[in-house]
Amino acid sequence: MTAANNSSPSDSADASLSASAVAVSPSTASAAASPATADSPTLSDTPSDLDFARSTALVIGAGASGRAAAELLVFLGARVRLYDQNPGATVPEGVEPVLGAADVPAGAFAGVDLMVLSPGVPPERFRAAQQQFAPQARVHGEMSLSLAIASARFGRLPTVLITGTNGKSTVTALTGALLAAGGLKPFVGGNLGVPLAAALLDLLRTGAPAPDALVLECSSFQLETLGHAATDVAMVLNITPDHLDRYPTLDDYAATKARVFTGLHTGGLALLDAGDGWTAFLRARVGAGRLVLVDDPDGARIVGPGPGDSLDLPGGDSFPRAALPIPGRHNSKNALFALLAARHLGVDPAACLRGLEGFHGLPHRMTFVRERAGVRFYDDSKATNVASVLASLDGFDRPFVLIAGGRAKGDDLTPLRELLRRSGRALVAIGESADSFYPLADGVVPARRASTMAEAVEVAAALAGPGDAVVLSPACASYDWFKNYGERGDTFARLVRALPAEK
Ligand code: ADP
Repeated sequence: MTAANNSSPSDSADASLSASAVAVSPSTASAAASPATADSPTLSDTPSDLDFARSTALVIGAGASGRAAAELLVFLGARVRLYDQNPGATVPEGVEPVLGAADVPAGAFAGVDLMVLSPGVPPERFRAAQQQFAPQARVHGEMSLSLAIASARFGRLPTVLITGTNGKSTVTALTGALLAAGGLKPFVGGNLGVPLAAALLDLLRTGAPAPDALVLECSSFQLETLGHAATDVAMVLNITPDHLDRYPTLDDYAATKARVFTGLHTGGLALLDAGDGWTAFLRARVGAGRLVLVDDPDGARIVGPGPGDSLDLPGGDSFPRAALPIPGRHNSKNALFALLAARHLGVDPAACLRGLEGFHGLPHRMTFVRERAGVRFYDDSKATNVASVLASLDGFDRPFVLIAGGRAKGDDLTPLRELLRRSGRALVAIGESADSFYPLADGVVPARRASTMAEAVEVAAALAGPGDAVVLSPACASYDWFKNYGERGDTFARLVRALPAEK
């Protein structure tokens, strides 16, 4: 099993919000107003407890993860219903559809002893309905269910869980690349690429051997239902405001992220960024395992900037920074997280070095598109919050016209004003939140509004001069205009390539 392309609708917390299944009735919704956090009731994931052949399961949400979970359960012999409010949702063969109703009909809970939540659905609402209509049922998320099944079928597999506000996909992919360079065959996915349930189904159907390790990107939504899956390495890369449309406070969001440590065993490794404002909060929630800090004099260190920059691990392993092809200090940190995980799983330093050298990053993260009339165009569509825009552009090597806006997530936008003041050339505000972005440029740089991506590209290209860049780095989700950030970035790149050679 390998990582799949990263532009499927299920591949990020950003994308997972687009799942079409939504709430049950307002009365049940208000009965459980706050999302699950670290204090949520523990979910059952004891492998011996899993007797799927006899269970009746209700899967909520017919996105990629929900469909995969439903198919996996059918394969194991369960009777499965799949609910989605979208009447046109695709339902796999052998699964009973429960489609179209705004609320899950009470009858769909008849005899249910297992409820499975997709990452994109708000769990508190469906749990309220489950408590009312099927209180005896176990509740899983697609990832926790799959981890439990994997462990029941294959025994304990070395497991790395990766979460954080930004950098998850990069660290997940890089960790997978380092393990592969060490000769292992890991499964790399989860929130990124292929859901674990789909990969497991494939394995069970084909009788292929179990992967050597699981490297799983976890969104906060997946962590809400994680349970106690045995974990060898668990990490929170950083916490900055995000998904405040889903969590009442940043504390709730951070506590959900800290659930990544729930199953860490005593010999396991917990990783945190020393410089992150939430590290003390998270540290108190590590529990078992050894904590190593990243970007810390006593932990894993970034040596430099300067000639001979290196990435140094505690214990003496050192890797030249120049070995890693992706730029930026944030990527130095990402590499340290991945290196620590790979070393913990036994990959030797020479293989780690080869893995670093071969890693050229994922698409839509400051991806160079084209140079035209001295202007360089970059697709940073994956920057879906303010912190990721800052990571990409603070310290960027040339003045830039920033194309930003989309579906707002509740971030404080003022740091972007400072960014524009320091190194911006102009701002092009797009999407639903254009009116919130436009005033950021007031008195700082020229600003325009654009009502389509085509107009945004045209206007940005006109505002940029030789030596400048045009960067799509929206600080917002993409669902106002696009299916996901991948489609947004691809559209931008296509339009940029179509610009005439001369201005
Ligand atoms: P995620 O999967 O968490 O969304 P990605 O690896 O896809 O993260 O990176 C998304 C964007 O986040 C990147 O384009 C970059 O701007 C920013 N980013 C990546 N790593 C970090 C980091 N360690 N700290 C802060 N920002 C980061």
